[in-house]
Amino acid sequence: MKKVFNYLFIIILIMGVLYIINNNDNIKENNNDINILNTAESNQDDVIYFAKGMNKEDYLSAINYKTQIINKKKEYQKILYNFDQYLDYKELENIYYNLNNSNIVNLEIIGKSVDNRNIYSIVIGKGNKTIMFEAGNHAAEFANPLFITKFIIDLVNNYEAEDKDIINLLNNYKIVVLPVVNPDGYNTLITGVNTIKNKDLFIYKNRNLIDFNYYKGNLNGVDLNRNMPSQNSGLHFKRYNLLNTVVLKPSINKMEYYAGKYLGNEPETKALIFWHNKYYQNIFAYITLHSSGRVIYSSKPNLSDELNDLSNKCAQIVNNITGYRILGSDYEEVGEGNDGTTTDFITELLSGYNFSKITGRLSYHKYDKKINKLKYKVCVINIETLESYTNDLNIIKNEYYDYNLEKVFMDLIKQY
Ligand SMILES: [Zn+2]
Repeated sequence: MKKVFNYLFIIILIMGVLYIINNNDNIKENNNDINILNTAESNQDDVIYFAKGMNKEDYLSAINYKTQIINKKKEYQKILYNFDQYLDYKELENIYYNLNNSNIVNLEIIGKSVDNRNIYSIVIGKGNKTIMFEAGNHAAEFANPLFITKFIIDLVNNYEAEDKDIINLLNNYKIVVLPVVNPDGYNTLITGVNTIKNKDLFIYKNRNLIDFNYYKGNLNGVDLNRNMPSQNSGLHFKRYNLLNTVVLKPSINKMEYYAGKYLGNEPETKALIFWHNKYYQNIFAYITLHSSGRVIYSSKPNLSDELNDLSNKCAQIVNNITGYRILGSDYEEVGEGNDGTTTDFITELLSGYNFSKITGRLSYHKYDKKINKLKYKVCVINIETLESYTNDLNIIKNEYYDYNLEKVFMDLIKQY
């Protein structure tokens, strides 16, 4: 009888240890200093969820993605590009591989798209002062990958030509660029639907119903700029009606936003989560490029005045050069179903939010309580280039020169 009790005691002890291991609040995996919260917001009754959160395992595996560093193959060769022809995604990739042959450039594959294209992060410079540029999230806004690619081509050409100012700049700064978040969308807009490799994908199957001049999502019909697992993504506050632009299934309509069945489930989103987590603790600015309307979004009403003041200063730099209009917090909806953008996500990381395994989103203790400080002092802005969507290369070229986007990018870098 006593022996039975001994066995029982040991079994209970083992179960207890396993329980403690499984319920550890703050887990640290690999080298990343990531806290996963076992808690959630205290006022969950105030919200209605319409998209499921991200699994903890998926979040951690996104952050721990094993990237592929591209080796240097040969001497750098000067690249000539001046918006005189379209560049399909393969041609962009060739440019990035050639840029990588410069000693000042490091090219890394940070993920794959739905249709199995590589997603790249390009790091230019050896300094510690770090700025991030993100472009090519919305398919039809393919001018921005061309703008930022033109900018970095000229930078590296000038560096290789031993321009003293550029050498000095790149010894002091690190410019981290994700030129095309949505490579399938980009390539489909440039080369047409027949270059979609996987013919079973939602967008290929529905190709005859889609006006590609306005198409924004990835090939699963998901708006990648609503799929990020930020605190208010895939939900709305009960006091607001869900915006009528938000839809609950894959969308082909230009004015609709589908956040995905699960937040963070799209491979392109996982690459963004990896990329944000890799760099956010070391940056002074985060710039995302979209198109349309020649405006700048620089405000997050739910976050700190400190963030909004810093971001407004960045927006002012852009406004001084371009005249693009700065939109204040009146233009930002929070809790109406339209959250989940890349700037929502990174501003929350910068504010010290952590991932909650309860909500499957970044978390702060209340949904609509304004946080009052930044953990990392960074400006975050969204620049909307161009008056409206266009596939006219002349209009795109004129935007770059008439609005002096090279100076915009350069002054955003040199502000710090
Ligand atoms: Zn956009």
